[in-house]
Amino acid sequence: MSLDTPLSALSRVGPKFSKKLEKLGLKTVSDLLFFFPTRYEDLSHITKIDEITSGADYVIQGIIIRSNTHRSFKKHMAITEIVVEDDSGAIKAIWFNQPYIGKALAEGAMVNLAGKVAEDQHGMYISNPLYELIGAPMRNTTHTGRIIPIYRETKGITSKAIRYFLSSILEWAKEIPEYIPKEILTKNNIPPLNEALRAIHYPKTLEEATHANQRFIFEHLFLVSLAREQRKKENYNSGAPLTIHLEEIKQFISSLPFTLTEAQKKAAWTMLKNMSETTPMQRLLNGDVGSGKTVVSAILALNTFLNKRQVVIMAPTEILARQHLDTFMRLFQAYPVAIGLIAGKKYHYAFEGLSSETKKPILLKGVRSGKVNIVIGTHALLEKEVVLANPALAVIDEQHRFGVEQRALLTGHRPTFSPHVLSMTATPIPRTLALTVFGDMDISILDEMPKGRKKITTKIVSPENRMQAYEFVRSQVKKGFQAFVICPRIELSESKNPNPYTLTPKKLTWWEVKTVKDEHEKLQNLIFPDLKVGMLHGKMKSEEKEAIMKAFSTKALDILVSTSVVEVGVDIPNATVMLIESAERFGLAQLHQFRGRIGRSEHQSYCLLFTTSIVHLEERRLKAMTTTHSGFELAEMDLRLRGPGEFLGEEQSGWSDIVMSTLKNPTLLNIAENEAKNFLINHTVNEIPTLQEKLTTFTSKLHLA
Ligand code: ADP
Ligand code: MG
Repeated sequence: MSLDTPLSALSRVGPKFSKKLEKLGLKTVSDLLFFFPTRYEDLSHITKIDEITSGADYVIQGIIIRSNTHRSFKKHMAITEIVVEDDSGAIKAIWFNQPYIGKALAEGAMVNLAGKVAEDQHGMYISNPLYELIGAPMRNTTHTGRIIPIYRETKGITSKAIRYFLSSILEWAKEIPEYIPKEILTKNNIPPLNEALRAIHYPKTLEEATHANQRFIFEHLFLVSLAREQRKKENYNSGAPLTIHLEEIKQFISSLPFTLTEAQKKAAWTMLKNMSETTPMQRLLNGDVGSGKTVVSAILALNTFLNKRQVVIMAPTEILARQHLDTFMRLFQAYPVAIGLIAGKKYHYAFEGLSSETKKPILLKGVRSGKVNIVIGTHALLEKEVVLANPALAVIDEQHRFGVEQRALLTGHRPTFSPHVLSMTATPIPRTLALTVFGDMDISILDEMPKGRKKITTKIVSPENRMQAYEFVRSQVKKGFQAFVICPRIELSESKNPNPYTLTPKKLTWWEVKTVKDEHEKLQNLIFPDLKVGMLHGKMKSEEKEAIMKAFSTKALDILVSTSVVEVGVDIPNATVMLIESAERFGLAQLHQFRGRIGRSEHQSYCLLFTTSIVHLEERRLKAMTTTHSGFELAEMDLRLRGPGEFLGEEQSGWSDIVMSTLKNPTLLNIAENEAKNFLINHTVNEIPTLQEKLTTFTSKLHLA
């Protein structure tokens, strides 16, 4: 048996459970060892039943004096009720829909229950507590599992089962060799791997668990930093160093219809310098909506063009790619820059401010020969037939919209060199998060908005003021402006119909959420029959979408009802109202993105937030939208309140802990960075084969491998 032994081979697991464990991503002994608890229950403080009060969490211990499982009258749901008694009193505990619990908890048995105590007209009770059968009353010192780890669970695999499986393999933790150099661990008081693995699953105290957790957070940050520093070291000669054409760039900047912000100047200058070096640039330009990232990328593009090299720009949607074409055409009107657009099945060629549709082979030939200087497109750029002659700069707009492979395809090594890479994101990512997750890139932040931008007035609208809000929209349209209406869904889907017997009555369900189709119909027919209302959503064909966007941008439509597809980059300066339905369903970062679609002209703009139900009117997050205008502040708040899921997406949710801890303890990141840099001064990673191996698996999971 080894660390790679499949879990199915363990006698305690077997084929039945191993299938289920696979749903948690656990296949081998090693997977299970590195499957960490999401939290711990401290069962070491047992409270006497007569001392508990409703509303708080407790652990109690006693004998089951009654146990009964029955079906509820109306809904045929299994309800298990037990009464537990200790020497001070008795209390009821209830579980819903888990009939097997009734079987496990027989009268006369001794149990620990841990959970929240509630109260109804019959008195206090504990609802759905964690339970553990114990043979005899616990004495203070001997029993294991005083601190109980709780794991991510799946159907048929409880935390309890995971603890059971783990107890049989924890011995193996001793077999895993340490991969972080000992000196680094000792110096920073970080526990070695074997000890940390034991302590994270079987902590004697919560402090021990926390300490073990620190080890893995440090490890993550150390590996991220190591990956970045090593890449720089390894790629030290593989880039395309570009000459900085300072005079031309100055001239270009002074030809702009506005003055660059200090943040823009600094970012552009830093990157021009990066690109003049032999190490390929890998930089994330993190700037709020409207902070002017495009023009920064244009400065780099111009310098690349002046070096007679190509630029490739990838955007997540056709709308956005098309918009970039327009912007670059405008910016480079006075330059002999040839621009190509490859978006979906559309091929455009633009030169000196004029653009026309062209045939695919013609455009691809121009790209291949190097005649097309800037190639803009969607992921269609990634097709094999798109071959660039001599790209030296790859720009990825809204980079979080692309997968790791897609980004790697665009930016990967060419036969002779790798291009400089500029990733841009308009989801302001808090710095700690960015460094933790995108830590293998350097980061520039545009934290300053162009001067003269008006603050967007943001209001939460209560249901009784809905008609008034519509009248306001009408008045804005009458003044010649336009409005967006955002809904969370396209239409109601039957398949999403939740089981009506589920026990979460307070959670709002789909039928209360506004949909684009219904709202469009309602607004066009009932509210604004005299105005032109359009509709946009992700299921429409790209020609349809384009036609709608065109109609909206040429004012053939007054109001556009849309899903979050307008979130990214759409530029309609004439729109002054952003009305968001079921606003509580969106993250702050996303709401801020929507809001960024307006306020793009000198006119005052308004963001109106509607909620699905009045319970959401008081939400702290929504209130923050009305008072805070900085995307970075909102993002930071979102991160603290909801965790990093919104920024990372589902598949990265396992990093939650690491990110949140780094947030609380930012010095750990500095320590890890310094240790990684120091290590690489005198060593290489492959001196320690286990470290090399770890780093390889680690980076393959990293955002930008
Ligand atoms: P984003 O960072 O969201 O991609 P854009 O690059 O689209 O923002 O810029 C938003 C708008 O601001 C554009 O119309 C652009 O021309 C304008 N802009 C960019 N920089 C400045 C500046 N320094 N001063 C005034 N307007 C600017
Ligand atoms: Mg942009």
